[in-house]
Amino acid sequence: MSLINSWENNVRKVVPYTPGEQPKDANVIKLNTNENPYPPSPQVKAVLENYDCGKMRLYPDPDSTVLVEAIAERYKLKPTQVFVGVGSDDVLSVAFLTFFNSDKPVIFPDITYSFYDVWADVYRIPYIQKPLTEDFRINPKDYKCENGGIIFPNPNAPTGCEESLEMIEEIVKGNPDSVVIIDEAYVDFGAESALALIDKYENLLVIQTFSKSRSMAGMRIGYAMGNEKLIKYMNDVKFSINSYTMTPLTQLCGAEAVRDEEYFQETLSKIISVREYSKERLSQLGFTFTDSKSNFIFASHKTKPAGEIFTALKEKKIFVRYWNKPRIGNHLRITVGTREEMDALFAALEDILK
Ligand SMILES: *Cc1c(COP(=O)(O)O)cnc(C)c1O
Repeated sequence: MSLINSWENNVRKVVPYTPGEQPKDANVIKLNTNENPYPPSPQVKAVLENYDCGKMRLYPDPDSTVLVEAIAERYKLKPTQVFVGVGSDDVLSVAFLTFFNSDKPVIFPDITYSFYDVWADVYRIPYIQKPLTEDFRINPKDYKCENGGIIFPNPNAPTGCEESLEMIEEIVKGNPDSVVIIDEAYVDFGAESALALIDKYENLLVIQTFSKSRSMAGMRIGYAMGNEKLIKYMNDVKFSINSYTMTPLTQLCGAEAVRDEEYFQETLSKIISVREYSKERLSQLGFTFTDSKSNFIFASHKTKPAGEIFTALKEKKIFVRYWNKPRIGNHLRITVGTREEMDALFAALEDILK
């Protein structure tokens, strides 16, 4: 069989992103994909119960006005400063396509969200990955060279480390010719948002999601906030691919969730307190970890290899995340679940480590 004239030569070949496992078995303790252990706001349930299915014959509002306006109100922005998409993965993908359009490489850390290199590859964007320091921190000097754009999460994933707003500002300010994207998927769990800087810097885009802090990973809602020009450029690209990305139900549920500030704060404080409790327990069990400001803990055991703990936990139907990769191959990323789920994890760990 000849490959020379084969249609396969013209295929856009990519190595896809591997999402965390979603087990079919409902009886597992699932601490592997940073989902929120609590349900979304009760207002979301009310939307679903009152929804008129007859409306489904119509196309949705392509501008997602109700959702955009609710987000704008919550963050004290103009609606023209907000872009919404099908999870922040969709928003990030549109942002890569819109802003990383140079022959110069885009920069992001070596240890970070493992979707960035996949988008760069699929869109043929050159990139370089700058190594984090030994203690998994970003060195701002690495972001001072010529580049076609910059992206990193804050707090970073899967390390949980927060970088200071001063450092972020230094990077944004030092790169006026590039768009700097801060992926704030975990910012609500105790880190400081770069949102305060978007009016000061035209080249700063902040991306957040409903998947973690608002307990709506299954609904797929993400959003970007930045100056009006950035948002307009993203909308131009979006409307060149698919105008109708957000279903009416998604728009309504998202708007109600973002308006329920009290429930949001209550859920966040529960997760933060279970996280701090979990740090104590893990440390008693002989783990070391970074000072996570997210809803997960990136931990390494002093004697038992992470790969072995991962497998032993899986046998006990407790799923955590493990990457057999350089530099992080002895770490586990453990999502903060409910107090009961975490206590079950600690009991299992005690048994595995004894
Ligand atoms: C979870 C996550 C996302 C994507 O979340 P969506 O569910 O697509 O909103 C993006 N970036 C980071 C760093 C994440 O951890």
